[in-house]
Amino acid sequence: MPETRPLLMIPGPVEISPAVLAAVSTPPPSHTSRELIDAFAESLAAMRRVWQAGPESHPFVVAGGGTAAMEMAAANLVEPGDGVLVADTGYFGARMAEILRRLGARVRQVAAPVGEVPPVEAIAQGLAALEQEGPAKALFATHVDTSTGVRLDPEPLARLAREHGLLSVVDGVCATGGERFEMAAWEADVYLTGSQKALGLPPGLALLVASPRALETRARRSAPPPSLYLDWHAWRPILAAYEEHRPSYFSTPPTQLILALRTALREILADGIETRIARHRQAARALREAWEVLGLVPVPVRPEIAAFTLSALRLPPGVDGSLVGRILERGVAVAGGLHPELRGTSFRVGHMGYAVTRPEMLLRTVRAVGEALADAGRPVDPRAAEAAAAAILDEAPQPKVAG
Ligand code: PMP
Repeated sequence: MPETRPLLMIPGPVEISPAVLAAVSTPPPSHTSRELIDAFAESLAAMRRVWQAGPESHPFVVAGGGTAAMEMAAANLVEPGDGVLVADTGYFGARMAEILRRLGARVRQVAAPVGEVPPVEAIAQGLAALEQEGPAKALFATHVDTSTGVRLDPEPLARLAREHGLLSVVDGVCATGGERFEMAAWEADVYLTGSQKALGLPPGLALLVASPRALETRARRSAPPPSLYLDWHAWRPILAAYEEHRPSYFSTPPTQLILALRTALREILADGIETRIARHRQAARALREAWEVLGLVPVPVRPEIAAFTLSALRLPPGVDGSLVGRILERGVAVAGGLHPELRGTSFRVGHMGYAVTRPEMLLRTVRAVGEALADAGRPVDPRAAEAAAAAILDEAPQPKVAG
C-alpha cells in the first residue's frame, strides 16, 4: 500500500514507534486482567525513573488530555483564596492561570514578551508582592510553551518556591521525556504531561508525579477538591493496588493506552533518560542549523531559551500561512502559529519522541520545509539545509552536556 498519510511533525500528537502502535492496536484487555495490572505497575515505576523522582513520590495516570493533568495538579493543591503565581511564557501559562482562577485562587501572572522568558528576579518580585497580599501556596510554570517554542529553566524556580515555602508545579506537556527535569534533585512538587508529546504515545493519557509535600498538601485540605475524577485520594488506593499487582477499580482506564505506556516508557529507559534527552538536544541543534541555512528566524529570542522539542519559526518576508499547506503537499504535517500574537506570522515543527530516534524523519521534514519555501518564492537551497542537519545527526548523542 502506498504511504498516503503525512509524516506527523506537529508539536503533538507525534509519530509513534512500531512497538507502541502494536501495543495500542490490541483488543482491549479488561481493566482487572493480569496483563493490564502488570503493565500499570511497570508503568508507574518507570514514570518515577523518567521523571527522575524519589521513591516516596506518587505517579498518577488518568484518561484525559494534558489539560486534565493541569486541572488535576491545580484541583488537588489549590483552595479558594490561595495565592498562586504563574510564570507565563505563552498560551499555556494563560490557560493555567484560567484554571486557577476558576478554582477561586488569587492569581498573579508574571509574563514575558513573546519569545522571552521572565527573569527569575521578576518572578521573585512577583512572589514578594503575592505574599504581601495574603498567604501564598504555589508557583506554576510551563517548562516548554508550545505556542512560543520557549523553554524556561524550572530548576531555579523550584528552588525559589522552596525558599518561600511554596509548592512548585511544572507543566511538562511539551517537555517530559525530551527536556532535562530532575524532580527529586530539584525538589519540584508536581511535573505533569500528556501522552501525545515527547513520551511518544497517542493522545489520551494525563500523567503527573506528585512529591510527598504535594501529597501532604492535598491531605491537609479543608475540603476535598471539587472534581471527584481528579482527586488524588480517589486514585491513590487504586494505583497503590496496581503497584502491588492487585486488581482495583475507581474509573475504567483506557487499557490499550496503558499497554502502550509501558512500551513507550520501556523504549525510553532502554535508551536511558539522559540519552533520550540528548537525542532531543541533537535533533534540535540539527534542525536549528537547517533553519538558519533556510533563512528562518526562531521565535525564541536567544538560543539558550529555545526548546529542544519543537521549533517555532517566523514566516519569512513575503511568505504567508499557506506555507503550512505547501509543506503538507510534500508529505509532512507541521502546525501554524497558536499564540494570538503569532497567528499568521509563524509556524511550528515538532521534533520529539520517536522522531528524534529516526534521522530520516527529521531530514524529510527539512527537505519539505525547504522545498515549500522555494515554491513560495524564497531563494533557498533545501539540499544545503538537509546536509547541514545531516552532519549534526551523524554525530553520537552526548548525554552529559548540560542544558
Ligand atoms: N500545556 C502545554 C505546554 C501544551 O503544549 C499543551 C498541548 N499542546 C497543553 C498544556 C494541553 O494539552 P492537551 O491539548 O492535551 O489538553
